[in-house]
Amino acid sequence: DTRHGPILYVEGITKSFDGFKALDDLTLYVGDGELRCLIGPNGAGKTTLMDVITGKTQPDTGHAWFGQRLNLLRMNEHDIAQAGIGRKFQKPTVYENLTVHENLELAMHAHRGLMTSLFWRLDGEQRDRVDEILELIGLKEEGHRAAGLLSHGQKQWLEVGSLLMQNPRLLLVDEPVAGMTPAETEATAELLVSLAGKHSVVVVEHDMEFVRSIARTVTVLHQGSVLAEGTMDQVQNDPKVREVYLGE
Ligand code: ADP
Repeated sequence: DTRHGPILYVEGITKSFDGFKALDDLTLYVGDGELRCLIGPNGAGKTTLMDVITGKTQPDTGHAWFGQRLNLLRMNEHDIAQAGIGRKFQKPTVYENLTVHENLELAMHAHRGLMTSLFWRLDGEQRDRVDEILELIGLKEEGHRAAGLLSHGQKQWLEVGSLLMQNPRLLLVDEPVAGMTPAETEATAELLVSLAGKHSVVVVEHDMEFVRSIARTVTVLHQGSVLAEGTMDQVQNDPKVREVYLGE
């Protein structure tokens, strides 16, 4: 759904490691407000692509623009995060000894440092924002519990909530349902779908059933470039994709 035009433009990106092309002339556009799934076998280049977008890795050639104006390849990781690209890694990192509420407060004031953040009084609007996020991530009843006591799934949602406190325009999410129960997986699908529109979301995921349940457009990466793109049905019936996945 690129109704409002792309928010992310990745064009002709190549990145070699010791002569091996992890990304090979890769071009990808993500629409504003879109929920995009990125799939592909191990080694296809998914992580390297996320690293390029977030400034963790510099490509050898190509262009990457965010919202048409920002040249991501001229920015460092910190500035890219500040510009509105949030990244969630597979392993949740929450402050286990702080409450759920404190984790979200901290995320809002992360740039002030841990101690300052915890003594920083939230104004009414900021408290409302924390409550809104708690509701969205399904942790309204858990606000005053220590984050360390949450289930694996709840910790993942708390981390998504922490990212949302920075109000990113684009969220990159790595394997959100790995290790989740079926009920947690379903709740995660609802959460990600509810974020689209207001945010653009790119989800890297191996669980095909999950991808089918959330994605409108799926991009299949293989050997560092885009092998196929379309609806789940379209890409699953694509002979090139079947060959890579099923050896047909
Ligand atoms: P995916 O996330 O799709 O599994 P990756 O982006 O992690 O794929 O990796 C793509 C290829 O690039 C792999 O063959 C991997 O070994 C290689 N690669 C990734 N990062 C590095 C690195 N820092 N040094 C050397 N090779 C790397």
